[in-house]
Amino acid sequence: MFDAVDMAPADAILGLTEAFSRDPNPEKINLTVGVYKNSQGKTPILESVKEAEQRILKAEQTKMYVSPHSGTAEFVRCVQQMVFGADHPVVTAKQAVSAHTPGGTGALRLAGDYLKTNHPETTLWISDPTWANHAGVFQAAGLPIRKYPYYDGVTRSLAFDRMLEALTEVKEADVVVLHGCCHNPTGVDPTIAQWQQISEVLAERRAVALVDFAYQGFARDREQDSAGLLALLEHVPELMVCSSFSKNFGLYNERVGALTVVTRSQEAAEAVLSQIKIGVRRNYSNPPAHGAIIVTTILEDPTLRAQWEDELTQMRDRIHDMRRLFAQTLSAEGVTLGPDGENAFIVRQKGMFSFSGLDPQQIQTLRDQYAIYIVRDGRVNVAGMTEQNMGRLCKAIASVA
Ligand code: PMP
Repeated sequence: MFDAVDMAPADAILGLTEAFSRDPNPEKINLTVGVYKNSQGKTPILESVKEAEQRILKAEQTKMYVSPHSGTAEFVRCVQQMVFGADHPVVTAKQAVSAHTPGGTGALRLAGDYLKTNHPETTLWISDPTWANHAGVFQAAGLPIRKYPYYDGVTRSLAFDRMLEALTEVKEADVVVLHGCCHNPTGVDPTIAQWQQISEVLAERRAVALVDFAYQGFARDREQDSAGLLALLEHVPELMVCSSFSKNFGLYNERVGALTVVTRSQEAAEAVLSQIKIGVRRNYSNPPAHGAIIVTTILEDPTLRAQWEDELTQMRDRIHDMRRLFAQTLSAEGVTLGPDGENAFIVRQKGMFSFSGLDPQQIQTLRDQYAIYIVRDGRVNVAGMTEQNMGRLCKAIASVA
Protein backbone atom coordinates (compact mmCIF):
# COMPACT_ATOMS: atom_id res chain seq x y z
CA MET A 1 0.00 0.00 0.00
CA PHE A 2 2.76 2.45 0.86
CA ASP A 3 5.31 1.59 -1.85
CA ALA A 4 3.99 4.02 -4.44
CA VAL A 5 3.55 7.06 -2.21
CA ASP A 6 5.28 10.17 -3.52
CA MET A 7 7.34 12.39 -1.27
CA ALA A 8 5.39 15.48 -0.22
CA PRO A 9 6.99 18.74 -1.37
CA ALA A 10 9.31 20.11 1.31
CA ASP A 11 7.89 22.89 3.48
CA ALA A 12 9.67 26.04 2.30
CA ILE A 13 10.34 27.55 5.74
CA LEU A 14 11.15 24.28 7.52
CA GLY A 15 13.51 23.36 4.66
CA LEU A 16 15.39 26.63 5.19
CA THR A 17 15.60 25.95 8.93
CA GLU A 18 17.21 22.58 8.20
CA ALA A 19 19.65 24.15 5.73
CA PHE A 20 20.46 26.79 8.36
CA SER A 21 21.25 24.15 11.02
CA ARG A 22 23.62 22.39 8.61
CA ASP A 23 25.41 25.63 7.62
CA PRO A 24 28.89 25.62 9.26
CA ASN A 25 29.35 29.44 9.02
CA PRO A 26 29.69 30.70 12.65
CA GLU A 27 28.25 34.08 11.65
CA LYS A 28 25.09 32.68 10.01
CA ILE A 29 21.85 34.60 10.56
CA ASN A 30 18.36 33.03 10.51
CA LEU A 31 15.51 35.41 9.66
CA THR A 32 13.10 32.71 8.50
CA VAL A 33 10.97 31.04 11.19
CA GLY A 34 8.19 32.96 12.94
CA VAL A 35 9.29 32.69 16.55
CA TYR A 36 10.42 35.39 18.96
CA LYS A 37 14.13 35.47 19.79
CA ASN A 38 15.85 37.53 22.47
CA SER A 39 19.07 39.54 22.10
CA GLN A 40 21.07 36.30 22.50
CA GLY A 41 19.19 34.71 19.63
CA LYS A 42 17.29 32.38 21.99
CA THR A 43 13.54 31.68 22.32
CA PRO A 44 13.36 31.76 26.13
CA ILE A 45 10.75 30.45 28.58
CA LEU A 46 9.14 33.48 30.22
CA GLU A 47 9.87 33.86 33.96
CA SER A 48 6.14 34.18 34.64
CA VAL A 49 5.61 30.85 32.85
CA LYS A 50 8.39 29.16 34.88
CA GLU A 51 6.86 30.43 38.12
CA ALA A 52 3.36 29.33 37.09
CA GLU A 53 4.69 25.87 36.19
CA GLN A 54 6.28 25.50 39.63
CA ARG A 55 2.98 26.35 41.28
CA ILE A 56 1.12 23.95 38.98
CA LEU A 57 3.56 21.12 39.70
CA LYS A 58 2.96 21.51 43.44
CA ALA A 59 -0.82 21.91 43.24
CA GLU A 60 -1.76 19.45 40.47
CA GLN A 61 -3.65 16.39 41.73
CA THR A 62 -4.74 14.64 38.54
CA LYS A 63 -4.17 14.31 34.82
CA MET A 64 -7.88 13.80 34.20
CA TYR A 65 -9.23 14.96 30.82
CA VAL A 66 -9.98 18.68 30.51
CA SER A 67 -13.59 19.17 31.53
CA PRO A 68 -15.74 20.18 29.77
CA HIS A 69 -13.82 19.07 26.67
CA SER A 70 -14.27 22.51 25.11
CA GLY A 71 -12.18 24.04 27.95
CA THR A 72 -12.53 24.89 31.61
CA ALA A 73 -14.71 27.82 32.70
CA GLU A 74 -11.60 29.58 34.09
CA PHE A 75 -9.66 29.31 30.83
CA VAL A 76 -12.66 30.45 28.77
CA ARG A 77 -13.08 33.47 31.07
CA CYS A 78 -9.39 34.37 30.66
CA VAL A 79 -9.57 34.06 26.88
CA GLN A 80 -12.64 36.26 26.60
CA GLN A 81 -11.27 38.89 28.98
CA MET A 82 -8.09 39.01 26.95
CA VAL A 83 -9.83 39.30 23.61
CA PHE A 84 -12.69 41.69 24.49
CA GLY A 85 -11.83 43.16 27.92
CA ALA A 86 -13.63 42.07 31.10
CA ASP A 87 -16.70 44.28 30.87
CA HIS A 88 -17.47 44.06 27.17
CA PRO A 89 -21.22 43.57 26.59
CA VAL A 90 -20.71 40.37 24.57
CA VAL A 91 -19.01 38.85 27.62
CA THR A 92 -21.49 40.07 30.23
CA ALA A 93 -24.49 39.11 28.05
CA LYS A 94 -22.93 35.64 27.46
CA GLN A 95 -23.13 36.13 23.70
CA ALA A 96 -19.60 34.79 23.24
CA VAL A 97 -18.52 31.17 23.55
CA SER A 98 -14.96 29.86 23.45
CA ALA A 99 -13.36 26.48 22.95
CA HIS A 100 -9.85 25.60 24.09
CA THR A 101 -7.84 24.34 21.12
CA PRO A 102 -4.38 22.92 20.37
CA GLY A 103 -2.76 26.23 19.37
CA GLY A 104 -4.04 28.88 16.99
CA THR A 105 -3.86 26.36 14.14
CA GLY A 106 -6.25 24.07 16.02
CA ALA A 107 -8.64 26.99 16.44
CA LEU A 108 -8.53 27.75 12.71
CA ARG A 109 -9.22 24.13 11.78
CA LEU A 110 -12.05 23.87 14.32
CA ALA A 111 -13.55 27.06 12.86
CA GLY A 112 -13.21 25.58 9.36
CA ASP A 113 -14.91 22.34 10.37
CA TYR A 114 -17.70 24.21 12.15
CA LEU A 115 -18.35 26.35 9.04
CA LYS A 116 -18.23 23.43 6.61
CA THR A 117 -20.74 21.42 8.67
CA ASN A 118 -23.12 24.17 9.73
CA HIS A 119 -22.87 26.72 6.93
CA PRO A 120 -22.06 24.69 3.80
CA GLU A 121 -22.76 27.69 1.55
CA THR A 122 -19.89 29.68 3.07
CA THR A 123 -16.92 30.80 1.00
CA LEU A 124 -13.86 31.77 3.01
CA TRP A 125 -11.89 34.86 1.97
CA ILE A 126 -8.20 35.14 2.79
CA SER A 127 -5.79 38.01 2.21
CA ASP A 128 -3.26 37.92 -0.61
CA PRO A 129 -0.66 37.31 0.73
CA THR A 130 -1.36 35.55 4.01
CA TRP A 131 0.19 33.06 6.43
CA ALA A 132 1.20 30.09 4.29
CA ASN A 133 -0.93 27.63 6.28
CA HIS A 134 -4.28 29.44 5.99
CA ALA A 135 -5.24 28.05 2.60
CA GLY A 136 -4.13 24.53 3.57
CA VAL A 137 -6.03 24.46 6.86
CA PHE A 138 -9.29 25.74 5.38
CA GLN A 139 -8.98 23.56 2.27
CA ALA A 140 -8.49 20.54 4.52
CA ALA A 141 -11.77 21.50 6.19
CA GLY A 142 -13.33 21.44 2.71
CA LEU A 143 -14.21 25.12 2.37
CA PRO A 144 -14.09 26.99 -0.94
CA ILE A 145 -11.51 29.78 -0.73
CA ARG A 146 -11.17 33.15 -2.44
CA LYS A 147 -8.47 35.77 -2.04
CA TYR A 148 -8.71 39.52 -1.62
CA PRO A 149 -5.81 41.89 -2.41
CA TYR A 150 -4.06 43.15 0.70
CA TYR A 151 -0.58 44.44 0.04
CA ASP A 152 0.75 47.05 -2.35
CA GLY A 153 4.35 46.08 -3.14
CA VAL A 154 5.04 49.48 -4.70
CA THR A 155 4.02 51.65 -1.76
CA ARG A 156 4.85 48.90 0.78
CA SER A 157 1.49 49.51 2.43
CA LEU A 158 -2.08 48.25 2.59
CA ALA A 159 -3.81 48.04 -0.81
CA PHE A 160 -6.90 49.33 0.94
CA ASP A 161 -8.98 50.50 -2.03
CA ARG A 162 -8.43 47.25 -3.90
CA MET A 163 -9.17 45.27 -0.74
CA LEU A 164 -12.50 47.03 -0.18
CA GLU A 165 -13.45 46.69 -3.82
CA ALA A 166 -12.83 42.92 -3.70
CA LEU A 167 -14.83 42.63 -0.49
CA THR A 168 -17.90 44.04 -2.20
CA GLU A 169 -18.10 40.63 -3.94
CA VAL A 170 -18.47 38.87 -0.60
CA LYS A 171 -21.83 37.11 -0.29
CA GLU A 172 -24.17 36.78 2.67
CA ALA A 173 -22.77 34.29 5.24
CA ASP A 174 -19.31 34.32 3.67
CA VAL A 175 -16.44 34.57 6.12
CA VAL A 176 -13.55 37.01 5.71
CA VAL A 177 -10.31 36.14 7.48
CA LEU A 178 -8.55 39.21 8.89
CA HIS A 179 -5.37 39.27 10.99
CA GLY A 180 -6.19 40.93 14.34
CA CYS A 181 -2.79 42.66 14.34
CA CYS A 182 0.77 42.07 13.06
CA HIS A 183 -0.32 40.76 9.66
CA ASN A 184 1.75 37.73 8.68
CA PRO A 185 3.73 38.03 6.38
CA THR A 186 3.56 41.76 5.57
CA GLY A 187 3.62 43.49 9.00
CA VAL A 188 1.02 45.92 7.58
CA ASP A 189 -2.21 46.42 9.59
CA PRO A 190 -5.32 48.49 8.83
CA THR A 191 -5.81 51.70 10.82
CA ILE A 192 -8.83 51.90 13.12
CA ALA A 193 -10.64 54.05 10.54
CA GLN A 194 -9.97 51.32 7.97
CA TRP A 195 -11.22 48.59 10.34
CA GLN A 196 -14.42 50.61 10.65
CA GLN A 197 -14.78 50.82 6.88
CA ILE A 198 -14.18 47.07 6.58
CA SER A 199 -16.87 46.44 9.18
CA GLU A 200 -19.32 48.61 7.24
CA VAL A 201 -18.70 46.58 4.07
CA LEU A 202 -19.16 43.31 5.98
CA ALA A 203 -22.37 44.60 7.59
CA GLU A 204 -23.71 45.65 4.20
CA ARG A 205 -22.89 42.24 2.71
CA ARG A 206 -24.20 40.44 5.83
CA ALA A 207 -20.89 38.60 6.06
CA VAL A 208 -18.86 37.64 9.11
CA ALA A 209 -15.20 38.18 9.96
CA LEU A 210 -12.88 35.52 11.32
CA VAL A 211 -10.07 37.31 13.13
CA ASP A 212 -6.84 35.33 13.34
CA PHE A 213 -5.35 36.69 16.56
CA ALA A 214 -1.95 35.01 16.72
CA TYR A 215 0.07 38.04 17.88
CA GLN A 216 -2.04 39.84 20.48
CA GLY A 217 0.31 42.09 22.44
CA PHE A 218 3.05 42.21 19.79
CA ALA A 219 1.91 45.40 17.97
CA ARG A 220 1.00 48.06 20.57
CA ASP A 221 -0.14 46.33 23.71
CA ARG A 222 -2.54 43.59 24.65
CA GLU A 223 -5.51 45.94 24.99
CA GLN A 224 -4.85 48.22 22.03
CA ASP A 225 -4.26 45.22 19.79
CA SER A 226 -7.94 44.31 20.25
CA ALA A 227 -9.06 47.70 18.92
CA GLY A 228 -9.53 46.54 15.32
CA LEU A 229 -11.57 43.53 16.35
CA LEU A 230 -13.70 45.68 18.69
CA ALA A 231 -14.27 48.16 15.87
CA LEU A 232 -15.66 45.28 13.78
CA LEU A 233 -18.15 44.47 16.51
CA GLU A 234 -19.60 47.96 16.31
CA HIS A 235 -21.16 47.22 12.93
CA VAL A 236 -21.22 43.42 12.74
CA PRO A 237 -22.73 41.68 15.75
CA GLU A 238 -21.30 38.25 14.87
CA LEU A 239 -17.63 37.38 14.84
CA MET A 240 -15.16 34.47 15.04
CA VAL A 241 -11.77 34.84 16.72
CA CYS A 242 -8.88 32.36 16.67
CA SER A 243 -6.48 33.13 19.51
CA SER A 244 -3.01 31.69 19.88
CA PHE A 245 -0.90 31.83 23.04
CA SER A 246 2.18 30.53 21.26
CA LYS A 247 3.79 33.93 20.78
CA ASN A 248 2.51 36.17 23.58
CA PHE A 249 3.18 33.56 26.30
CA GLY A 250 6.05 31.87 24.45
CA LEU A 251 4.14 28.57 24.73
CA TYR A 252 4.89 27.33 21.23
CA ASN A 253 5.20 23.62 21.99
CA GLU A 254 2.44 23.47 24.60
CA ARG A 255 -0.15 24.00 21.85
CA VAL A 256 -2.64 26.36 23.44
CA GLY A 257 -5.18 28.52 21.67
CA ALA A 258 -8.91 29.17 21.54
CA LEU A 259 -11.78 29.56 19.12
CA THR A 260 -14.26 32.23 20.21
CA VAL A 261 -17.57 32.89 18.46
CA VAL A 262 -19.67 35.98 19.14
CA THR A 263 -23.36 35.53 18.40
CA ARG A 264 -26.42 37.76 18.74
CA SER A 265 -27.92 36.02 21.78
CA GLN A 266 -27.07 33.66 24.59
CA GLU A 267 -29.29 30.97 23.00
CA ALA A 268 -27.43 31.22 19.69
CA ALA A 269 -24.11 31.11 21.56
CA GLU A 270 -25.05 27.90 23.36
CA ALA A 271 -26.19 26.27 20.11
CA VAL A 272 -22.96 27.24 18.33
CA LEU A 273 -20.86 25.89 21.20
CA SER A 274 -22.76 22.59 21.12
CA GLN A 275 -21.82 22.26 17.42
CA ILE A 276 -18.21 23.24 18.06
CA LYS A 277 -18.00 20.57 20.75
CA ILE A 278 -18.82 17.96 18.10
CA GLY A 279 -15.86 19.25 16.11
CA VAL A 280 -13.63 18.94 19.18
CA ARG A 281 -14.74 15.34 19.77
CA ARG A 282 -14.12 14.35 16.16
CA ASN A 283 -10.74 16.04 15.79
CA TYR A 284 -8.83 15.44 19.00
CA SER A 285 -11.52 14.68 21.62
CA ASN A 286 -9.85 16.66 24.40
CA PRO A 287 -7.35 19.52 24.29
CA PRO A 288 -3.81 19.40 25.76
CA ALA A 289 -4.14 20.82 29.28
CA HIS A 290 -0.78 22.12 30.40
CA GLY A 291 -0.52 25.32 28.32
CA ALA A 292 -4.04 26.39 29.25
CA ILE A 293 -3.38 25.83 32.96
CA ILE A 294 -0.28 28.04 32.63
CA VAL A 295 -2.24 30.81 30.87
CA THR A 296 -5.04 30.62 33.46
CA THR A 297 -2.63 30.59 36.42
CA ILE A 298 -0.85 33.69 35.11
CA LEU A 299 -3.91 35.70 34.13
CA GLU A 300 -5.78 34.97 37.37
CA ASP A 301 -2.91 35.96 39.69
CA PRO A 302 -2.29 39.73 39.85
CA THR A 303 1.46 39.39 40.53
CA LEU A 304 2.10 36.82 37.81
CA ARG A 305 -0.10 38.78 35.43
CA ALA A 306 1.89 41.97 36.00
CA GLN A 307 5.14 40.05 35.50
CA TRP A 308 3.85 38.55 32.24
CA GLU A 309 2.68 41.97 31.00
CA ASP A 310 6.24 43.24 31.63
CA GLU A 311 7.76 40.34 29.76
CA LEU A 312 5.35 40.83 26.86
CA THR A 313 6.30 44.52 26.77
CA GLN A 314 9.99 43.60 26.71
CA MET A 315 9.48 41.27 23.73
CA ARG A 316 7.47 43.92 21.89
CA ASP A 317 9.97 46.69 22.69
CA ARG A 318 12.90 44.59 21.51
CA ILE A 319 11.20 44.01 18.16
CA HIS A 320 10.46 47.75 17.82
CA ASP A 321 14.09 48.55 18.71
CA MET A 322 15.36 46.13 16.07
CA ARG A 323 13.04 47.66 13.46
CA ARG A 324 14.46 51.11 14.17
CA LEU A 325 18.05 49.85 14.21
CA PHE A 326 17.53 47.89 10.99
CA ALA A 327 16.14 50.97 9.21
CA GLN A 328 18.92 53.22 10.56
CA THR A 329 21.74 50.79 9.80
CA LEU A 330 20.47 50.23 6.27
CA SER A 331 20.33 54.00 5.74
CA ALA A 332 23.85 54.37 7.16
CA GLU A 333 25.00 51.77 4.59
CA GLY A 334 23.34 53.87 1.89
CA VAL A 335 20.63 51.27 1.23
CA THR A 336 16.97 52.18 0.85
CA LEU A 337 14.49 49.34 0.56
CA GLY A 338 11.48 51.67 0.63
CA PRO A 339 9.68 53.10 -2.39
CA ASP A 340 10.32 56.75 -1.55
CA GLY A 341 14.06 56.58 -0.96
CA GLU A 342 13.82 55.75 2.72
CA ASN A 343 13.42 52.87 5.16
CA ALA A 344 10.69 54.29 7.41
CA PHE A 345 8.21 51.66 6.21
CA ILE A 346 10.16 49.08 8.24
CA VAL A 347 9.50 51.04 11.44
CA ARG A 348 5.81 51.46 10.61
CA GLN A 349 5.20 47.72 10.18
CA LYS A 350 3.90 45.75 13.17
CA GLY A 351 4.89 42.47 14.79
CA MET A 352 7.81 40.20 14.05
CA PHE A 353 7.64 40.31 10.29
CA SER A 354 8.71 42.75 7.67
CA PHE A 355 8.18 42.41 3.96
CA SER A 356 11.64 43.63 3.02
CA GLY A 357 11.17 43.98 -0.73
CA LEU A 358 14.32 41.88 -1.37
CA ASP A 359 13.91 39.79 -4.52
CA PRO A 360 14.55 36.02 -4.86
CA GLN A 361 17.93 36.57 -6.56
CA GLN A 362 19.15 38.87 -3.77
CA ILE A 363 17.85 36.40 -1.17
CA GLN A 364 19.73 33.52 -2.84
CA THR A 365 22.98 35.54 -2.90
CA LEU A 366 22.55 36.49 0.78
CA ARG A 367 22.26 32.80 1.59
CA ASP A 368 25.08 31.54 -0.65
CA GLN A 369 27.64 34.24 0.12
CA TYR A 370 26.77 35.41 3.63
CA ALA A 371 24.84 32.53 5.28
CA ILE A 372 21.89 34.88 5.80
CA TYR A 373 18.59 32.97 5.54
CA ILE A 374 15.42 34.77 4.39
CA VAL A 375 12.15 33.33 3.06
CA ARG A 376 11.83 33.54 -0.75
CA ASP A 377 9.01 36.10 -0.69
CA GLY A 378 11.28 38.56 1.15
CA ARG A 379 9.66 38.20 4.57
CA VAL A 380 12.21 38.73 7.33
CA ASN A 381 11.73 37.92 11.02
CA VAL A 382 12.92 41.10 12.71
CA ALA A 383 13.19 39.15 16.01
CA GLY A 384 16.09 37.22 14.43
CA MET A 385 18.12 40.46 14.39
CA THR A 386 20.40 41.50 17.26
CA GLU A 387 22.71 44.45 17.93
CA GLN A 388 25.60 42.06 17.23
CA ASN A 389 24.44 40.75 13.84
CA MET A 390 22.88 44.01 12.52
CA GLY A 391 26.08 45.50 11.04
CA ARG A 392 26.96 42.31 9.18
CA LEU A 393 23.37 41.87 7.97
CA CYS A 394 23.04 45.40 6.58
CA LYS A 395 26.49 45.34 4.94
CA ALA A 396 25.50 42.10 3.21
CA ILE A 397 22.19 43.61 2.05
CA ALA A 398 24.11 46.67 0.79
CA SER A 399 26.29 44.38 -1.32
CA VAL A 400 23.27 42.81 -3.08
CA ALA A 401 20.92 45.82 -3.21
N1 PMP B 1 -1.99 32.36 12.43
C1 PMP B 1 -0.92 33.07 12.07
C2 PMP B 1 -1.11 34.30 11.26
C3 PMP B 1 0.36 32.65 12.46
O1 PMP B 1 1.42 33.35 12.09
C4 PMP B 1 0.49 31.48 13.25
C5 PMP B 1 1.82 30.98 13.72
N2 PMP B 1 2.87 31.09 12.89
C6 PMP B 1 -0.67 30.79 13.58
C7 PMP B 1 -1.89 31.26 13.17
C8 PMP B 1 -0.63 29.49 14.35
O2 PMP B 1 -0.22 29.57 15.65
P1 PMP B 1 0.01 28.30 16.55
O3 PMP B 1 1.47 28.03 16.55
O4 PMP B 1 -0.50 28.71 17.89
O5 PMP B 1 -0.77 27.16 15.98
